[in-house]
Amino acid sequence: MHLSRYFLPVLRETPKEAEIVSHQYMLRAGMVKQASAGIYSWLPMGLRVLNKIADIVREEQNRAGAIEVLMPTIQSADLWRESGRYDDYGKEMLRIQDRQERDMLYGPTNEELITQIFRDSVKSYRDLPRNLYHIQWKFRDEIRPRFGVMRGREFLMKDAYSFDLSEEDGRKSYNRMFAAYLRTFARMGLKSIPMNAETGPIGGDLSHEFIILAETGESQVYGHQDLFDGDIPPADLDFYGDLTPVVDQWTSLYAATDEMHDAARFEAEVPADKQVSARGIEVGHIFFFGTKYSDPMGCRVQTPDGDMANIQMGSYGVGISRLAGAIIEACHDDKGIKWPVPVAPFEVGLINLKAGDEGTDTACGAVYEQFTNAGIEILYDDTNERAGGKFATMDLIGLPYQIVIGPKGLKDGQAEVTDRQTGAQESISLDTVANVIAKRVKQQRLLV
Ligand code: ATP
Ligand code: MG
Repeated sequence: MHLSRYFLPVLRETPKEAEIVSHQYMLRAGMVKQASAGIYSWLPMGLRVLNKIADIVREEQNRAGAIEVLMPTIQSADLWRESGRYDDYGKEMLRIQDRQERDMLYGPTNEELITQIFRDSVKSYRDLPRNLYHIQWKFRDEIRPRFGVMRGREFLMKDAYSFDLSEEDGRKSYNRMFAAYLRTFARMGLKSIPMNAETGPIGGDLSHEFIILAETGESQVYGHQDLFDGDIPPADLDFYGDLTPVVDQWTSLYAATDEMHDAARFEAEVPADKQVSARGIEVGHIFFFGTKYSDPMGCRVQTPDGDMANIQMGSYGVGISRLAGAIIEACHDDKGIKWPVPVAPFEVGLINLKAGDEGTDTACGAVYEQFTNAGIEILYDDTNERAGGKFATMDLIGLPYQIVIGPKGLKDGQAEVTDRQTGAQESISLDTVANVIAKRVKQQRLLV
């Protein structure tokens, strides 16, 4: 992509309304624009990141055996009356009436709708287990939308729902999502820790929040230091095998959010030098709630004995739009974002220091083509802006590799390469630079 033909409305000043760094950088780097409180338009740079996050989530859901569907954003209130949640949900639910004066709502979550779909289609235990997920916008009329996309009112969520015959099988489905989440966040360059959590309005008694540490996190969290070096399940994990070792490894050490924190247990179980007490961001949340929805909504199957049984269910959320902000909170410096390769909007940024000069234009054009042919996503700054501005923009938008070609290096046939993550700089010959960097990028696409 040539920057001269792109849409990248960069802001030089920090917008006053943005309190935390991810919000500031997302606005400054032209990723999002607020449409109204807690509601954002995603501009090209932001959308590329959002799509990459969604793709990783999708790949890991599919790997764990979940099946993608797409449910609507607008739901009927009657469905929520069946589960009893229409009245319980409170003001966070955006309630609407259609022209027939039927009560509708903009879905804050989808337990009811998926239960209806499943109930009307599946009648036998033979069709279990199943896990259906979708990636869809949600609306919650948060009392205090803030921190940009981190606590929006409209936000993109992946939500999966598992259906099993027995509680024991239901826990296996839960464990599959547990393992899938560890991989999902690790692939984005994040260290996520599953923590015992409250179930809130979703219900049930088994629940983990996946938390990443960041100073600006909204939750206070407590855990054992060794959790931060836990093993991420491999790509070829057998998701239908015994996953209890994975879950046990990640749940045997103390980890809890504020609401579930037990100070006495923390002191007793975690040695003083291993105690972590920090701020965290919730990026995912999984629940096992048994028959909470299947019972009132009549979602039953025939058992092998010919009896009817309520289906055992769980639900599993990932905050896809929140993750765009959360990754920035975890990966930045005072100049801008430092995208991990797997979620970077482009993998390489190329700066032409003297656009319009025949020599640099030709050299940049050749390098650009080599990267493109190698299947690398590259943003080429071919504009006439002064060098300082180009460097500042490139640092701000945080592409993993910056390649600078100017008249000086050109004389020696060299390009200057900066690794945005480490800050390491090196000169690489113009003939080989695309090859060398393409290879590094490809190695970093799959972090786990
Ligand atoms: P929180 O405690 O942050 O309000 P929640 O527990 O109400 O979130 P869940 O119902 O567990 O949220 O939703 C699943 C995931 O969706 C969360 O883990 C989070 O990543 C994301 N999410 C929830 N609310 C928002 C929001 N207002 N803006 C952006 N993402 C959100
Ligand atoms: Mg939650």
